[in-house]
Amino acid sequence: MNLINFQLIMLKKGDHVLILAGKDKNKKGKIVKVLPIKDKIIVDKLNTVKKHIKPKKQGEKGTRLEISMPFPASRAMIVCPNCSKPTRQSVKFIDNKKVRICKKCQAEI
Ligand SMILES: [Zn+2]
Repeated sequence: MNLINFQLIMLKKGDHVLILAGKDKNKKGKIVKVLPIKDKIIVDKLNTVKKHIKPKKQGEKGTRLEISMPFPASRAMIVCPNCSKPTRQSVKFIDNKKVRICKKCQAEI
């Protein structure tokens, strides 16, 4: 199995991740969206671009929005909610249910 895809399947919306590469390297954030087909994730307030929205009417002020852009899931590593360390995950099947396990502290993620 492809390693990148494998890590992506392991990531879920709401997970906290550490960014390993790119302009937001070493920052932590929460996943707000997973795009499985593109192998990408969107992390809250990271990898943002500033967009300037022009005013619709004369006299109105334009607004500036910061939008989080998707980036490759391979650039992120999950942060274990139990030991608060960036970790790799392993998978166990308990009662036919897939459970993610932190490789550092063995807790369920
Ligand atoms: Zn852990």
